[in-house]
Order: sequence, then C-alpha cells, then structure tokens
Amino acid sequence: TAVDIVDALAASISARNGEIGAYLSTNLDDARAQAAAADLSKPLGGIPIALKDNINVLGQPCTCGSKFLANGYTSPYDAHVTGRLREAGAVLFGRTNLDEFAMGSATENSALQVTRNPHDTSRIPGGSSGGSAAAVAADLAIAALGSDTGGSIRQPASHCGVVGLKPSYGRVSRYGLVAFASSLDQIGPMTKSVADAALLLQAIAGPDHRDSTCLNVPVPDYSADLAKGVAGMKLGIPKEYFGEGIDPEVRARVEAAVKRLEAAGAEIVEISLPHTEHAVATYYIIAPAEASSNLSRFDGIRYGQRAANPADLLDLYKRSREDGFGPEVKRRIILGTYVLSSGYYDAYYTRAQKVRTLIRRDFEDAFQQVDAILTPVAPSPARKIGEFADDPLHEYLSDIFTLGPNLAGLCAISVPAGTVASDSGTQLPVGLQILAPHMAESTLLRVAKAAE
Ligand code: GLN
Repeated sequence: TAVDIVDALAASISARNGEIGAYLSTNLDDARAQAAAADLSKPLGGIPIALKDNINVLGQPCTCGSKFLANGYTSPYDAHVTGRLREAGAVLFGRTNLDEFAMGSATENSALQVTRNPHDTSRIPGGSSGGSAAAVAADLAIAALGSDTGGSIRQPASHCGVVGLKPSYGRVSRYGLVAFASSLDQIGPMTKSVADAALLLQAIAGPDHRDSTCLNVPVPDYSADLAKGVAGMKLGIPKEYFGEGIDPEVRARVEAAVKRLEAAGAEIVEISLPHTEHAVATYYIIAPAEASSNLSRFDGIRYGQRAANPADLLDLYKRSREDGFGPEVKRRIILGTYVLSSGYYDAYYTRAQKVRTLIRRDFEDAFQQVDAILTPVAPSPARKIGEFADDPLHEYLSDIFTLGPNLAGLCAISVPAGTVASDSGTQLPVGLQILAPHMAESTLLRVAKAAE
C-alpha cells in the first residue's frame, strides 16, 4: 500500500539520513495520513515526493537552509507545484537541504546541516539542490523537486548520478518558490529515470495566473514521444564547452555518450556558442542584483529572525540581517546592491543585460541548425567537502556549463553518463547535459531517454 511505501522510505531515512544529511525535516505522520487517503488511480497516486526546502507547503517549515527562517517559520500556503502534486495524488514527504536561499553549488552554504554525496561521503553532493539529489541517489526518496537558477538541479543530479530537469522559463509556475533570481528561477524534477522526470514534469507544468511569467500554453503529453529515439535528429556539440578547464575523464564520459547517440542514429554537428566565456560574469551580476532585491523582504519584521532589544528600527533591520544571513548570502547582497547603485548601474547591470541578449542569440542561432545540444554539466566530478572553502570565485567558475541555459530561458537536463574513479577508489558519477529550445521539453526528454 501507499502507507507501506512511506514506511519503507522512513526506515531507510532513519538508517541513513544521519550519515547523508539529505533531509532537514520529515513529516512522517502527515505523510502516512496523506498516503492512507491517496487516490491510487491518479498519475502520481500514493507516490512520495520530497521537496527542496525553499518550496512552500502549507503548515510545513520552509527554512531555505537559512538561520533566518529556521526557528519556527511555517508556510501559510502551498506553492503552485505543491498543489499540482497533491492534485496528481502524490504524497508530500520530507524537506531537503540546500545552499542558503539556493546560493551555491555544493550545499555547503546551508546554515543548517552538511549533506554528503552517497557515492563518496567525503564529497559534496553538488548544489544547491544537493539534499534532493542525495535523497534520490541514496534511495531515501523515489523522486524530488529542486529549483534551478544557474544549475542547481542539473549539477547535483550530475554529481549524484540521478536525472535532473530544468524546465524552460515560463513552463512551471514559481508561485510559492522562495525567490532567488526571478528572471532565472525554475522548479523541476530530480528522479531515478527519464520516464519519471517526464511524469513529474507533467504534473507540475502549465499555466498559473499567480505567476505572470508562467506561460499560458498547452502542455504536451511528455511520456508519449519518449521512446521515439533520436534517429534523424541533429545534435550540436558546442566547441566552447569542451576546451580548457574540463577534466579529461569527464570529457571522455561525455564524448562516449555523444558516440552512443550517434550510433542510435543522430547526426552530430559541431556548433559554436561564441559568448559562452561571458556567461559566468553575466550571471554573477544579474543573479545577485535580483537576489539583493528579493531578499530585502527579510527585514526582521515580516519573517523569521528578529534581533532582540533593538535600539531603533534601523538597528532592528541591521542586526536581524547581520545575524540571520550567512556569508555567501551577504556577499551576493553586497554585490547585487553595488551593481544596481547609481553610477554603476549602466556599467555593470545594463551591460550584463546586453550580454545576456547575445548569449540568448547564440542559442537561437544554434537551434536553427540543430534539434538539441550536448555538453558536460560540470567541469569535474564532485569535489571533497571543504575544498576551496575560501575561494568563491573557483565555485562560480565551475558553473560555466549550466548558467547559459538559464540566461537564455532554455530547457535543460542532466542524465547519468558513467563514472570516474576517485583517488580513494570510489566511483564518482558524471552527467551529460542536453539543451533544447524554449518550451521544447518533449524533444529534450526524447534525447535524454535515448542517452539513458
Ligand atoms: N551555483 C549557482 C549559484 O550559486 C546556481 C545556483 C542555483 O541554480 N540556485 O548561484
């Protein structure tokens, strides 16, 4: 029964979550009650789904991995995706760890807990949706939702050996997702298979009047064309994604995946995305700018953290934010307010928006020639926990392959493509990234299925 499934997961979680640290909280009694009442005839009837802890679920905590919200904040409403999962019959079970407010690539910026990679517990699971990825990889969840602003679904999926799909901007409502960078954020599935990703996307995709950027266009049947294969498709290999800085073993796994798709009948075409080298600089201006604005709502009055005995209102704001936010979040707020300040706005923010347009046009030109694009997800396999701890720039640069699709609004997926042996003999997963045009998730899933 559905209750048995919840109980079996709960047993695995109590056996292994202490070591992995994937979950911040579990709502076992509530999940059992949802399971007992589940309508098994629905598409996700009785299936437990874990949610990243920046997606609102009525009555549950929503910590965003931050001290700011960790002490007693509970959501007063369901996010759109939460409601859609309920309508599809799913059981909402468990809240997964993340980098604070989804800012990071290792889940090490969580103020609350360390999450470990199930394939090698001395290593990071990736991030920011590292808890969701680790939970699925360690069999502590059947499937999960993550959010992706610049790679936060795809990169942890790659590091943990699971499937992670970032939908096109506007495919899934952001209502009830705690905003990081509103022009880049999307919620998407993290699953054990491409078929599961199609099912979960089906449940959460589609219009919502509460998010004006969510497009009012029909949602195709994502499972229908999955098995159609890639024969006759043109798949592009952008030369800028295979050059300097990529680990040769990672490159070899991705090239082997490309060869398999070629053997399955796809035509492989070399393409160019000439503005790729500017993606990191562009993203790390636009994302912090939007974050600095979005995070102004955490003022010590409205949510969570509030400084004790303030001298006056300004002191209340200052000390609540000083105590509530961690170092990476503060770094982004300072960077964001700087690039938006008068005198610097045109030099940084406006210029970044112009380069963003050039990056989007690169992809538009490429999709005149090819149906989908194949690239690595991350330049290296999962690194050790604590490595490069004082080097945010190193961390930012490692996002080079995942930022472009968010800046351009494309859909993108990470599919497991083998493993690389570490020095200590563990096998570290490597993902293949597939990119498809805006709203072309059916094409994306079809290529992903053939690559699986
Ligand atoms: N690693 C990127 C960042 O730190 C992307 C994070 C995300 O997609 N939420 O901003």
